Amino acid sequence: MPTLLDEAKGMEPRMIAIRRALHQNPELAYHETATAALVARELRSLGIEVKTHVGATGVVGLLKTGKSGRVVGLRADMDALPVQEEVNLEFKSKRKGVMHACGHDAHVAGLLGAAMLLVKHKRELSGDVKFLFQPAEEEGGRGGAKPMIEAGALENPHVDNVFGLHISSDLPSGSFGVRGGPFMARPDAFRITVTGRGGHGSAPHKTVDPVYVAAQVITALQGISSRMVDPIKPFVISVCSVHGGTKDNIIPDQVLLEGTMRTLERETRTKALADVRRVVASVCQAFGATCTIEFKKDPYPVTYNDEKAVERVERVLKRIPGTKTEVIDQRLGAEDVSRFLQKAPGVYYNLGTNNPSKGCVAPIHSSRFRVDEDVLKYGAVSLASVALEFSRPK
Ligand SMILES: [Zn+2]
Ligand SMILES: [Zn+2]
Repeated sequence: MPTLLDEAKGMEPRMIAIRRALHQNPELAYHETATAALVARELRSLGIEVKTHVGATGVVGLLKTGKSGRVVGLRADMDALPVQEEVNLEFKSKRKGVMHACGHDAHVAGLLGAAMLLVKHKRELSGDVKFLFQPAEEEGGRGGAKPMIEAGALENPHVDNVFGLHISSDLPSGSFGVRGGPFMARPDAFRITVTGRGGHGSAPHKTVDPVYVAAQVITALQGISSRMVDPIKPFVISVCSVHGGTKDNIIPDQVLLEGTMRTLERETRTKALADVRRVVASVCQAFGATCTIEFKKDPYPVTYNDEKAVERVERVLKRIPGTKTEVIDQRLGAEDVSRFLQKAPGVYYNLGTNNPSKGCVAPIHSSRFRVDEDVLKYGAVSLASVALEFSRPK
């Protein structure tokens, strides 16, 4: 009897062709029309029922089994990034300044591969499988999962569990990384306006210099990480953009700071939000400036992996020949998949694609990022195996 991996090897050329077609024609968040059309076409060719325009450009495929068992949702994201590709591949991005630098092309190809496998193994499923192809993962709080959920993607039939994977440039090719509990962060984006009183650069004593005050604010914010948050708790705060001033001898009226704060636990977040407000306001006040502090509404939640489900996923992954499964660290990146996992418990895991012998070493989001295509089959087998496992009652 051929294993799922043997079967996936037979599908490898198709998966690679799909991935390359997407790589050549990357589409930015909420513009994934050609990508969605390709996904819909592929799913329909497998006899899977398809709904398009689910929450903007989202696509939902439903593999019907005629049985009333547990419904598993498998999710992939479809959007590319505003990055100019710097790798010379024969299937290099044809779109200037747009690139699949986060590997979402591989996610789509891998999930379509899983669909091909599951169609063949339909009789082993005890419930339906839903394929959730979401737009705009890279959009921060405005990601595509929420509009898809609002459009009913997780209902009719109701999805019991959701699973998905992300390519990882940190893990070696063919390694899976899994972790139970809070896995990825809640990202709180903030915007601070420091308002002083401008004047001549030669006479700062006649002004309230917001550039100087903003510099103190940036420095003081790092005191929250190092002096206020429990050092055992994951936490980071970064000011990533500073805007102010027009000329070398004019002290401006205002400086704008933007940044992000990442947490994994509610208590840490609640305390840190208050700390940020207090520290910023106090520093500004101390130097005679005023400020406003805004946190962006409705950020992605913490990506939470169900502990019990993780144990089952680990067992499934460990059975895939030629791969390794390891427990990986928590991370402070954020993921739109968190919204699906909030509605239907499940697991988001990583699949390594780091392979120095093929030059696949640059991190995701880099203009030099490249995927080791040998791992597509592992992605497909893992998703299909997880669906088969969770289709069965516990
Ligand atoms: Zn990304
Ligand atoms: Zn990504």
